[in-house]
Amino acid sequence: MYITVIGTGYVGLVTGVCLAEKGNHVTCVDIDPKKIEQLKQGITPIYEPGLEPLLKRNIEAGRLSFVTNIVDEAHPAEIYMIATGTPSRADGSAEMRYVYAAAEAIAGHINDYAVIVDKSTVPVGTSDQVRHIIQQGLTQRGLTIQFDVVSNPEFLKEGAAIKDFMQPDRVIVGVDSLAAIQFMKELYLPFLNSEQQLLVMSAHDAELTKYAANAMLATKISFMNEVSRLCELYGADILNVRRGIASDPRIGSGFLNAGCGYGGSCFPKDVSALIHMAEQHHFDPLILKAVEERNRLQKNRLCEKVVDYFGDDLSQITVALWGLSFKPGTDDLREASSLVFIEALLERGAKVQAYDPVAMKAAHQSFPKAWFDEKRLSLMPDSYQALHLADVLVLVTEWDEFQTPDFDLMKSTMRGRLIIDGRNQYSALKLRKLGFDYVGFGSGVSP
Ligand code: NAD
Repeated sequence: MYITVIGTGYVGLVTGVCLAEKGNHVTCVDIDPKKIEQLKQGITPIYEPGLEPLLKRNIEAGRLSFVTNIVDEAHPAEIYMIATGTPSRADGSAEMRYVYAAAEAIAGHINDYAVIVDKSTVPVGTSDQVRHIIQQGLTQRGLTIQFDVVSNPEFLKEGAAIKDFMQPDRVIVGVDSLAAIQFMKELYLPFLNSEQQLLVMSAHDAELTKYAANAMLATKISFMNEVSRLCELYGADILNVRRGIASDPRIGSGFLNAGCGYGGSCFPKDVSALIHMAEQHHFDPLILKAVEERNRLQKNRLCEKVVDYFGDDLSQITVALWGLSFKPGTDDLREASSLVFIEALLERGAKVQAYDPVAMKAAHQSFPKAWFDEKRLSLMPDSYQALHLADVLVLVTEWDEFQTPDFDLMKSTMRGRLIIDGRNQYSALKLRKLGFDYVGFGSGVSP
């Protein structure tokens, strides 16, 4: 099939590359000329394991191309996929202008029946609006063309995006046109073990399903973070509580880790967009608001734990920080807990020495220049140099390389003995035996 993907971020690029890998002819469009130039050379602008070799292979095979202008440059396609961003607006609602701009571009391009597939996470009713925009554009061009709009939300995870796209648990297809369903089957069956994994529903159902999925996962995290506070207050251990409840199949074991809060480009913005959607209908989404608030408070807990130990004035304290990205496997810093933490530390006068295996370039680009210029924040070349004369190590992102570090070397490199474990990665018992002061989340051991 000929497919055009609009937006080459985490979702659009992975989608384009994986569809090409199955033999489709894919044109990826992005308004960012720098990104497109890099991609044409087979260089991925984002860190995503396994993506670059697939990108190169499919460019070389002539199945994958990159353009900045859909109208003049893209090959006519049967399927147009919208994968532009939907970031939060100031009021928490989803910013829809990129999706609508993509719909306008499609309307200016198609000359034959096409299926327009929305992969972006969008409020309920967006498919109607996209249909309306395309219809208007076609009318302006004096064309009468049949087309269908499908809501097909994406569930891939950054860091495991290729695997998630190649072997999805399920594919949600929101549409009522039989022709479009047939196209979706042709597109996705090569990725599925059985047709049962393709869940067909209305576009509105599909749009809400995506928000409900992310909100449910965010709820599990915030719930466990709340329980971890109770553990700290009552001297109970969250790791045992988690073991005890995760073995209940009604609860499941995923997303039950307590820690320094969730971040990323999806959960925070999607929870707040869902709150906004509820409020638009004068409905008070009590649970969602609590999930959001608990996460906001949880991100502050890292600095609170530093202050609990050293006192309010941190001007003599050097903090080593391991992990900047919002989770391992990605260089994405959007809404990362590290951002809130660094800002709080700098406000109290601390000096921060940070290291991340892949997000250093992204950190250089996104943190305020003044932080570096004033030498309050330094990005260090490796994890041990980040520890140099540090009073405390704070683990924020649980990258593999931080899992079994050389604790003896750490001890001789650091000035202090405190380890604050934002992801409950280390054994409190082991670290205490080695002579460290260990502070985790919810292990009933906070000083
Ligand atoms: P992103 O910000 O990484 O990428 C969006 C891309 O769209 C950018 O490269 C931007 O330049 C481009 N763009 C914007 N307007 C355009 C236009 N008019 N024409 C062409 N290109 C345009 O976004 P993302 O993380 O890939 O997310 C895309 C959507 O998918 C969002 O709605 C997001 O919520 C959803 N989603 C993201 C993930 C994830 O893990 N990142 C997972 C599932 C769903």
